[in-house]
Amino acid sequence: MDFRKLENSIDKKRIILDSKTIKDYYLANTLNRDVSIPAVIQVLYKKELFSVLEFARENRCSVYPISTGHNWGYGCALPVADHCILLDLSGMNQILAFDERFGIITIEPGVTQKQLYEFLEIHDYAYLTPTTGAGPNCSLIGNILEHGIGLAPIADHADSVYAMEVIFGNGEVYSGCMPDTCTSLNKLYKWSVGPHLDFLFLQSNFGIVTQMSIRLFPKPQKIEVVTVLLRGNISESLCESLNQIQQEIGSQHMSNVSLMHLQRFLQFNQVTDEDFSFIDRRLLKTLHQYSWLVFFGIYGSPLMMKSLKAIIKQRFSALHLRPIIISMPRYLFWDHIGNICHYGNSVLLKNYFSFIQTALLAFSGIPTEQGLKLVYQDLNSLKSTTMLNPSLDQCGIIWFSPLVPLDAVHLNQFWELATAFLEQYERKPLISFTTISPYLFIASVPILYNKLDKKELKKAQECYKSLLAHSLESGFHPYRLGIQSMPDQLPQRNLSYWSLVSQLKQVFDPEHIISPGRYCPLPIL
Ligand SMILES: Cc1cc2nc3c(=O)[nH]c(=O)nc-3n(C[C@H](O)[C@H](O)[C@H](O)COP(=O)(O)OP(=O)(O)OC[C@H]3O[C@@H](n4cnc5c(N)ncnc54)[C@H](O)[C@@H]3O)c2cc1C
Repeated sequence: MDFRKLENSIDKKRIILDSKTIKDYYLANTLNRDVSIPAVIQVLYKKELFSVLEFARENRCSVYPISTGHNWGYGCALPVADHCILLDLSGMNQILAFDERFGIITIEPGVTQKQLYEFLEIHDYAYLTPTTGAGPNCSLIGNILEHGIGLAPIADHADSVYAMEVIFGNGEVYSGCMPDTCTSLNKLYKWSVGPHLDFLFLQSNFGIVTQMSIRLFPKPQKIEVVTVLLRGNISESLCESLNQIQQEIGSQHMSNVSLMHLQRFLQFNQVTDEDFSFIDRRLLKTLHQYSWLVFFGIYGSPLMMKSLKAIIKQRFSALHLRPIIISMPRYLFWDHIGNICHYGNSVLLKNYFSFIQTALLAFSGIPTEQGLKLVYQDLNSLKSTTMLNPSLDQCGIIWFSPLVPLDAVHLNQFWELATAFLEQYERKPLISFTTISPYLFIASVPILYNKLDKKELKKAQECYKSLLAHSLESGFHPYRLGIQSMPDQLPQRNLSYWSLVSQLKQVFDPEHIISPGRYCPLPIL
């Protein structure tokens, strides 16, 4: 391919052909996967995409767009198939419009959580940034396109989409039923008239998304975090209470609910026995009686908070559980006291406070990198704690994230299944469940390994494969897939469904220019 032809429309400095730069920067990944790409094009303007697509058609090759390429644990910046030109859209990072009255923002693919947060802060706009555990430097659009889930409301990020603009392989532009994509009415009315097609562009490879209008959650007067420690297995009465709390309070006044296993909590904080003080050993004895930590955020006016807390306390007290509910000012007060007395030399107490702070920030729409620390083997070796990047920092992680109904039978069944495989392959059960509705959890199972150790890698990969196959057999279907398990590789799949997806691909992108293999079977040559 003669990339010089592109230099008329794109600055040649942004056409990356140097294999070392490509390998070190774009191909670094947490799955230890090898994919070959001939070039990376750093796109700054929408008009450049038309030239790239024309070039791809002429040269009969494919392109693979990424927003910021931080799809860590699911494929990072890597294409599903070999020989695609990688389109890095992180430089297309304009905030195109913001309607302060309704909180509808129109953004390009490279806009990150951090950028949005700063924009809202600078202009004093009272809306929350949709935060995730992946941190400030991840895009909003790439995350939405993967059906990402967040900590602040609106947790199911795809739910916030109001309009989008997409370019197809033949250069045609889709902007919904109404003309002028993300303008006026189209931005305010989610569905348009006639069949709603926008959602066909999530988890698919039908086009390149060049802008989206999304709804932001208004900043409430008060935000508090609720935590509850649980003993033993997950009970049906707990599930009923969690369901009732969510139904009664509603998503306007609470975040999603997380149920984190204590092992994951300890891993986050990388606490080892050697760090423990006398107080810690006593605390740990108490802590070992517990197995799960429930946490979520609540939102409202001071008056409303009183009723929300009353509902929560009533529901939990019926289970003989005592929730701790804490606001940022209260946290800061206790943290101040804790610092004065060095937290009684207790690592656990200090880490619990740091966890509360992380949760409060995330629920308040303030992106931090705290969640990423989960995948670092040795946090002490980190030179800087800003700009964590698990791909570049050689972290080994494969995510497995199936859907699990919110009832004790399914939750315990999945827990037993997952821990059996994790133990078999000597991985810790760092499992956490997060609701995406009052009836459904997404389980997040990080399979961590040391990338420098080949045996570890093999164990992690086999663990993932077995877990995926057995979970599918037991009816636990992932909500999102890594590039190693796209439909062609799925051990069990609904053939008629994927055949329909292939037919749609023929409609949108018959030359298979865009992201071959991503959530769509590869064409048979
Ligand atoms: C410790 C840890 C915690 C995490 N926590 C979360 C979490 O809480 N919630 C969550 O959802 N994820 C989480 N992740 C997973 C992941 O890192 C995030 O989802 C991240 O936001 C995805 O990366 P990105 O935004 O850069 O998207 P990208 O990598 O840019 O995009 C993802 C995929 O979407 C497609 N795509 C992207 N942009 C376009 C476009 N413009 N047009 C067409 N297709 C496109 C591409 O196929 C791309 O591979 C976590 C990962 C780690 C390691």
